[in-house]
Amino acid sequence: MIKTVKHTRDILPSEFSQDTSAQSHRFQHVEAIAREAFRRYGFREIRTPIFEHTELFARGVGTETDIVSKEMYTWTDINGDSLTLRPENTAPVIRAYIEHKMAHQSDLAKLFYIGPQFRRERGQKGRFRQFYQIGVEVIGKSDNPAIEAEVIEMIYWMLTELKIEQTQLLINSVGCPVCRPNFNEMLKREVAPHLPQMCGNCNRRYETNILRVLDCKEDAAIVSKFPSTLNLLCQECSTHFAKFRTYLDARSIPYKIEPRLVRGLDYYTRTAFEITSGSLGAQNSLLGGGRYDGLSETLGGSAAKGFGFALGLDRFVMSLPQDVEDPSVPLLFLAHLGEKAMEYALKLASSLRREGVACAVDFEARSLKNSMKLADKVKAKNVLIIGEDELVKGRYVLRNMSTGEQSELTEEELFERFKAK
Ligand SMILES: [Zn+2]
Ligand SMILES: [Zn+2]
Repeated sequence: MIKTVKHTRDILPSEFSQDTSAQSHRFQHVEAIAREAFRRYGFREIRTPIFEHTELFARGVGTETDIVSKEMYTWTDINGDSLTLRPENTAPVIRAYIEHKMAHQSDLAKLFYIGPQFRRERGQKGRFRQFYQIGVEVIGKSDNPAIEAEVIEMIYWMLTELKIEQTQLLINSVGCPVCRPNFNEMLKREVAPHLPQMCGNCNRRYETNILRVLDCKEDAAIVSKFPSTLNLLCQECSTHFAKFRTYLDARSIPYKIEPRLVRGLDYYTRTAFEITSGSLGAQNSLLGGGRYDGLSETLGGSAAKGFGFALGLDRFVMSLPQDVEDPSVPLLFLAHLGEKAMEYALKLASSLRREGVACAVDFEARSLKNSMKLADKVKAKNVLIIGEDELVKGRYVLRNMSTGEQSELTEEELFERFKAK
């Protein structure tokens, strides 16, 4: 038997999977609410290819990051091009922003994406080599922190709609090219004497990306003594962060300043944020994002400001309440007894479907008992029983599968009952 590749998985209809973290209707539920949020807040969809030139991620994400150095699926194409399955979607969106000259067409591009990303994960709980992300990017002339607060407000609308509770917003500022070099130098001086006691990652990052030492979980006790990025912000970064907080306050969005919050990727500047959830246990980060002014220049475009976030759909689905209704189960299952009844059932199903009713018809002749079993298996909400007698009378028995309640209806009454839904 050929199986899925290690650390990848199938997302299945609820009929075929008891595992609520892998049911497709739960993914659809998050996507539908995200799309509604994007509609309300004026974000429009962009779909980029799932593979790009490797150079895009090397330059955009940074060669020293774990993603680029260890986790990418890269191959040499027949013509010699080095190509990579996208490990994240911000760099591709900025690439598209530059390629399609969006800067000339609009002061501010507000884009969202929904789709699979690929990283060579090593099987930590809830992590997959093909995983799904939903994200937004706001790119253009303005770096007003009101953009940041509005995006976070939108995320909270989604969280409320999805009934994801016990969340906390963590915020920080990681500075800019003016103030960060000073901070990095100071941090290096502070970290140096502790290096022998610190993990391999920290020792490597000391040379390549000192800021990332601050989010080492392994060395949390040592790291907690190091200075915060907030101590050394330049005047402009400081003002930006203060304004951002004012905008959050104005929306009554509670937050905690987490001075050791730094994003995993090289391109972030100023505002960084993360939302954690109590329902996820130790790996409790639900989503994160931040500002990335300068990424456009890094990728060869003109200067542009940028702010965005991405959420892992796989982890989001795990945080949903158990009772998300599956809209794809049939509202009505037509059980038929005898050849004439089957003919009638098939016709009736066509008409009902034209009226927007999700219904299922059995293609086999079965006993009533076995039909009911099948209806139960596909989780049908109602069963209509059509037998020879019912055909003659023109009245059919409708059974509500959750309450067991039965009623007798004519075809007309049946349409009236279900069309409204
Ligand atoms: Zn600065
Ligand atoms: Zn460490």
